[in-house]
Amino acid sequence: MTRGRFAPSPSGRMHLGNIYSAVLSYLSAKSRGGEWIIRIEDLDRQRCKRVYADQVIDDLTWLGLVSDDEIIYQSDRDGIYQRELDRLKSCGLTYECFCKRADIIAAARAPHESDGKVVYNGRCRTLTDAERETKRREREPSTRIIVDDKEVCFTDGHYGEQRCNLSRDCGDFIVQRADGNFAYQIAVVVDDAMQGVSEIVRGRDLLDSTHQQIYLYEKLGYPTPQFSHLPLLMSGETGHRLAKRDQGTDMGYLREKYTPEGLIGHVLCLAGVIDRDEEIKRTDAVSVFNWDSISKNDIVVRY
Ligand code: GLU
Repeated sequence: MTRGRFAPSPSGRMHLGNIYSAVLSYLSAKSRGGEWIIRIEDLDRQRCKRVYADQVIDDLTWLGLVSDDEIIYQSDRDGIYQRELDRLKSCGLTYECFCKRADIIAAARAPHESDGKVVYNGRCRTLTDAERETKRREREPSTRIIVDDKEVCFTDGHYGEQRCNLSRDCGDFIVQRADGNFAYQIAVVVDDAMQGVSEIVRGRDLLDSTHQQIYLYEKLGYPTPQFSHLPLLMSGETGHRLAKRDQGTDMGYLREKYTPEGLIGHVLCLAGVIDRDEEIKRTDAVSVFNWDSISKNDIVVRY
């Protein structure tokens, strides 16, 4: 059975872009007769607050989107991430990194070679035990995973075939930060695998991260789910991806302007699934939903 999910980071009130991902992930799973769950991704203890998480759940409940399983909080799960990280460590796949971000940027290849992304050059991979010992006295290390020099390939359910050589385009990446917090990349993989998620629907901004995640799925021995990415909602005013700071799109405003059926209809109309911006019942939305009518180009929203 399909199991989809929505995994918001509660760093503020949700906006139209979050709701769009929530609704479409829900409809995709339900249209296949599947389940859909909510997971709160509050690893970043500075930015994420419990009150925002409560509000996220309240806003989703208002829309009629209810999790088919207990809602888990990543901030409760350090022990599980540690256990899985230890498995990677015991296979010799990780190493301590003492580099500062500024040094990594300075040492990176010319940005155009990696599409603007900073590629880590693996400097700390070859430190001797004695060098590591000395560096540990100066600063706490982060932990990186060693990547292979071969292509990671997958077929996105919406954007088709994707390939990336992690060694060339990303470099060894961080799985645990120097402050002890686990990186999004490992937490999301461990949770999706342990929660039996088989379909991941989310914004196209995370398409690039998917290669790192698939690499972790392989190294941890989990089955890889189906990934389907969505075009982004772009603000007509700023030309950027819709963000929490864009006025007039946060859930406080949207709940005043729309009924739950009206907001689901609005999202489906923006996505191109229905032609008219009008109320639609959740159950009817499940029946009309189909991926073929969703555009591949990003969608401009004007308010
Ligand atoms: N927590 C992430 C976010 O809110 C989404 C993670 C995911 O869907 O994989 O951006």
